Amino acid sequence: MKTEYDIVIVGGGMVGAALACALGGSRYQIAIIEGQYPDSFETGQPHDLRVSALSVASETLLKNIGAWEGIVSRRSCPYRRMKVWEAKEAHATLFDAENIGETHLGHIVENRVTQLALLETLKQHSNIDFICPAKTKQIDYSAGSSIVSLEDGRELVARLLIGADGGESRVRQSAGIGITKWDYNQQALVASVTTSYPQQDITWQQFTPSGPLAFLPLSGQNASLVWYNTPDQVKRLNALSDSQFLDALHQTFPSCLGRIDQLLERGYFPLRRQHAQRYIGEGVALAGDSAHMIHPLAGQGVNIGFMDVAMLAEVLLDAQAQGDRFYSTETLSQYEQARRNQNLLMMQTMDAFYHVFSNDILPLKFLRNVGFSLADKLPLAKPHITRYAMGVEGPIPSLAKRLHV
Ligand SMILES: Cc1cc2nc3c(=O)[nH]c(=O)nc-3n(C[C@H](O)[C@H](O)[C@H](O)COP(=O)(O)OP(=O)(O)OC[C@H]3O[C@@H](n4cnc5c(N)ncnc54)[C@H](O)[C@@H]3O)c2cc1C
Repeated sequence: MKTEYDIVIVGGGMVGAALACALGGSRYQIAIIEGQYPDSFETGQPHDLRVSALSVASETLLKNIGAWEGIVSRRSCPYRRMKVWEAKEAHATLFDAENIGETHLGHIVENRVTQLALLETLKQHSNIDFICPAKTKQIDYSAGSSIVSLEDGRELVARLLIGADGGESRVRQSAGIGITKWDYNQQALVASVTTSYPQQDITWQQFTPSGPLAFLPLSGQNASLVWYNTPDQVKRLNALSDSQFLDALHQTFPSCLGRIDQLLERGYFPLRRQHAQRYIGEGVALAGDSAHMIHPLAGQGVNIGFMDVAMLAEVLLDAQAQGDRFYSTETLSQYEQARRNQNLLMMQTMDAFYHVFSNDILPLKFLRNVGFSLADKLPLAKPHITRYAMGVEGPIPSLAKRLHV
């Protein structure tokens, strides 16, 4: 049996679920398909390995679509300061929320917590059918009447098919949208640990020629450490026993980390830069990692995905209000125009960081030191950089805009 929908979203990860919430309560009939429901959250359970730094702009969007309370009532860690340095911590550049009259720069949240809060929110909307767990068997893209066949035999017909199905997006492939991509010669080794220091309000990053070392605070005495390194080194480090790995962390991470009491979990992630050649077509749109994957060193991947959500929802809600064909290329191109160049700029910025910092070439070393001291000393530059990192400077879609800044 075929069921017809205005919009079918494939992928109920953070981005797809947020988009469904943003369209909840509208007159669109929506189906969202997710392969796997996340494990439930229990207070006091160990922190997950996958965490994200959510910007203030993402927080605003999540508030506006009704999911933020579900995050903070579970578990999150606000951070007020952000510190970056290269050789010596004494020469670090510090970005402080207080200096720009803000209470915080962002929150570190486990991805599962964000996803759970979003799924809980979207289930409250009667115009949304949440189909989970369900995997797509086949996706037949056709402008304005795509068919999504599920493994359990159900068939969904979509006027607008939305791919929020991650980097390997089957929606993107079925619509014949190409990508440009390359693998970074770097991977992220992530460790969830408990430290001798109690909860901290700072996230820091030290740049080294083999890649950055990053600290992200979590609630209690927990922290997430990210050790970027070449694939060979990551393989070697990952093969160490837990106690050898702890020794390696102590030897490599700066002393401000303090003592690590316990290693709870570790894992590694290959890093890829990937960009869809277009985000839309007649009856199809991509959002989040299905459209773009960026180096995570500045923690922006899902944040730009959430800005896609805010913009795409705005365009679709406007189209409904105006009586426009919501799935037409003409309507959807407003979304692409607003987001693709913004995301490209963010990708290029991350690439510049990656190339300028991941080596020991003298002229680049000079450039880095000049860059850091300029960022630290120019009175006007720092507030701008701080606000940019918070996502509150630059073009911001309405749903992610704070009313009082
Ligand atoms: C080491 C690391 C650290 C990071 N840190 C940060 C950070 O601090 N801040 C930040 O903003 N970003 C960060 N990111 C990036 C962030 O994790 C991603 O951008 C984000 O998870 C993308 O979300 P998404 O919903 O677009 O895609 P995904 O998380 O990939 O979700 C896709 C969903 O679609 C479902 N799905 C896929 N195919 C199908 C199908 N055929 N049928 C049904 N369901 C399907 C999957 O089950 C999944 O739930 C980091 C990434 C890495 C690797």
